[in-house]
Amino acid sequence: MYDVAVIGGGPGGAAAAKVCAIKGLKTILFERMKLPRRKVCTGMLVAKVAQDLVEKVFGENPSKAIAPSQYLSGIMLHAPGIEPRKIKHKIFIAWRKDLDYWMIKKAEDSGVELYDSARVVKIEELEYGFAIKLSEKEIKTRFIIGADGATSVVRKCLFPGLKVRYSGATREVYKSDIKLDHKYMHWFFPVHQIRPRFDINFKGDDLFVLEGGGLNKLNKEIKQLLSKDYGFDLNLKPVWKDGCTMSHLHEELLSGSFVPAKGDAILVGDAAGLALPVGYEGIGTAVHSGVLAATAIENAIETGNRAENFYVHSLKSVMAEIKRLNPLEDWLKNEVEKGDETLLDAVKLAFEKSFLESTY
Ligand SMILES: Cc1cc2nc3c(=O)[nH]c(=O)nc-3n(C[C@H](O)[C@H](O)[C@H](O)COP(=O)(O)OP(=O)(O)OC[C@H]3O[C@@H](n4cnc5c(N)ncnc54)[C@H](O)[C@@H]3O)c2cc1C
Repeated sequence: MYDVAVIGGGPGGAAAAKVCAIKGLKTILFERMKLPRRKVCTGMLVAKVAQDLVEKVFGENPSKAIAPSQYLSGIMLHAPGIEPRKIKHKIFIAWRKDLDYWMIKKAEDSGVELYDSARVVKIEELEYGFAIKLSEKEIKTRFIIGADGATSVVRKCLFPGLKVRYSGATREVYKSDIKLDHKYMHWFFPVHQIRPRFDINFKGDDLFVLEGGGLNKLNKEIKQLLSKDYGFDLNLKPVWKDGCTMSHLHEELLSGSFVPAKGDAILVGDAAGLALPVGYEGIGTAVHSGVLAATAIENAIETGNRAENFYVHSLKSVMAEIKRLNPLEDWLKNEVEKGDETLLDAVKLAFEKSFLESTY
């Protein structure tokens, strides 16, 4: 019988498990992939709160531990025929594979029992605690933390009736150069709309990443744009390509029709729908909610009350951020309809509000 089972070895799971173990709880973590694993994500810590949190929770500045990693000077916004706009801001960037492996190893060093290549297929509520089912194994635990990302199986088991909107993102990694400033992350709006959009960022000296939503449909147009303006070689093939699913739960969280915890089971990070609106920055909120989940479990053990109550109460600053930023999505769409020239100024303002002013 474990005190806590954490499902998922991303930033939310690593933070939750690490803090549980430090609090003296017998903690096990299951990750379905073999570690270290790849993750489709730009790998930026943008908001200062996210950069500070990661350093505080994992006890070290990731830039000292992870190579290649770097600090960018900011974000550049591009749309065809419009002068690019710049957001100057110090941003940490690394491969998620490296960032997440560093985090999970810190959790293991703190006493977490870690299993990779271990996919949880089902959870069942027992009279006292839960049964966690994997294909060849079953364990029992008093508390569960579902940190299993956008397509969370824990969420599906806890809330079978919840309707979730999903969208996709793809990524292509090239071993080459492209005529863009390496010190910036570059966001492109190819059809003068908020979406589809894609970004280009540099990892190390010789790799660049092209990623975003709607890339498949617009692949030819995007490559031609990049070839014409930035010297992209149209014959170049990616070293690898992959993709992922994103879930969208802000409306449900704000209306209260979805509460990311039930009894002694808690959802964190993307499983809870906590990536912030507009910029979709989710590493910081995953780490933050992981810490809150561990604290809620400690409070539940001390008082005999359900972990859900403590957790939902402690989430209020993240919920306030979602509430502040969510209307910007509609505002952006309206601004863009006013004409092409307003696009980048509106995006700049919304991104500044999202990335630079975030606190939780
Ligand atoms: C294209 C793109 C770019 C992004 N860029 C950024 C960025 O630059 N900065 C930022 O802050 N955020 C970014 N995000 C958002 C960010 O990736 C997520 O918010 C963040 O990864 C959430 O962390 P998490 O720990 O909740 O989930 P994840 O990081 O998704 O981790 C979940 C883990 O659970 C595992 N898992 C899933 N199911 C099971 C199962 N059944 N059993 C066991 N394990 C399971 C998965 O393999 C995975 O390792 C981006 C997202 C996308 C799509």
